[in-house]
Amino acid sequence: MDTAYLDGQYLPLAEARVPVLDRGYLFADGVYEVMPVYAGRIFALDAHLDRLEFSLNAIQLPNPLTHLSWREILEGLVTRNGGGEQMLYLQVSRGVQPKRGFALPENPTPCVLAFCQPLPPVSAFIKEKGVSTVTRADTRWLNCHIKSIALLGSVLLSHEALQAGCNEVILLRDGYLTEGGSSNVFVVKSGVVITPPKSRLILAGITRDLVIESLPAAGIQLQERAVTEAELRQAGEIWITSSTREIYPVTTLDGEPVGDGRPGSQWAKAFDLFQACKARG
Ligand code: PMP
Repeated sequence: MDTAYLDGQYLPLAEARVPVLDRGYLFADGVYEVMPVYAGRIFALDAHLDRLEFSLNAIQLPNPLTHLSWREILEGLVTRNGGGEQMLYLQVSRGVQPKRGFALPENPTPCVLAFCQPLPPVSAFIKEKGVSTVTRADTRWLNCHIKSIALLGSVLLSHEALQAGCNEVILLRDGYLTEGGSSNVFVVKSGVVITPPKSRLILAGITRDLVIESLPAAGIQLQERAVTEAELRQAGEIWITSSTREIYPVTTLDGEPVGDGRPGSQWAKAFDLFQACKARG
């Protein structure tokens, strides 16, 4: 998986170079997407391209490519990297500006980058034991609905989770659950699945949407509503969702067991529904 795409060219990732005056480098002025590739096919590509469009609009950067061009470029990249299972990353930054300055350039030349990395399947260990998490105050900015490459807040919070031997940090703002450091969060209370509604305080996860859409088929009730810290701590089950982790069952929160400390029955159903969704493509 060593082929990248940079500004119109496929080239070895190790040889891809971006000028230091790129606003992505100087200001983290750009947006990105991460999508899974299963059996050589990019999963939920249209949904990811729609969200990319949303993020670009939010930062006032015109999309440098049509959806059709994006599709051709990304599919070409996946093929060049051998198909199969991959994590596909793309980013668009506002490009080079001769003189460093905050003012947005009138006619930017965005820099387009994409590359692939391995995507390990959800391990048997995680399915059996789940993952551990810690909570932290959500100290990120107030535009978390934009998939911005300015990720230092999330990086530092996620590092605290890793230092504590945990897989993910779960974030709380003003007494309410927002999301994970790089995932959306679901809780289960008396069999009902609850997840915070879309707002500027969370990323509208593609996996989150797919999970929400899939639940009615199994007769599982879902509520999109604010989740208090107490509800999080008393939840019978907690799940985290993301494009690279699908749906992970969370079995400890701040060192305490979630429910009976094992992946829950609702999680098992949601996991199976998601596999069916993957198989449909
Ligand atoms: N929230 C945050 C902050 C994330 O970084 C991610 C992963 N990109 C998600 C949620 C999950 O989004 P998706 O399901 O689209 O990967």
